[in-house]
Amino acid sequence: MSYHKDGEARRWSERLYVAQEAICACCGQRMAPTSRWGEVKNRPTLDHVKARAAGGKKGKGNLILMHRLCNTAKDSRPPTGCELIWLQAVNALLGWGGEITTSGSPTAFSVHTA
Ligand SMILES: [Zn+2]
Repeated sequence: MSYHKDGEARRWSERLYVAQEAICACCGQRMAPTSRWGEVKNRPTLDHVKARAAGGKKGKGNLILMHRLCNTAKDSRPPTGCELIWLQAVNALLGWGGEITTSGSPTAFSVHTA
């Protein structure tokens, strides 16, 4: 992917890296330090959680970081639940206001006890 405003994308990447605590949103493994992005094969990359091809918007609110190889493997498939949770979590942390909407109103998690 490419942004015209590369500096902006870089800032988003760095904020996401901190918000995600360097964890890949796809596989859960640590990502390379941001200072080595240019050198590392499996560096962090921005992923559009909702694929652009599927109508996902461009820019923050629809972005998480994942390994380049994970991102390549993801291609344009629909996001997994984990990725949606990551997106909601980082947007809450960063105050970006994600675009994830569910049909109906959000439902709280409930715990079933015996
Ligand atoms: Zn990964």
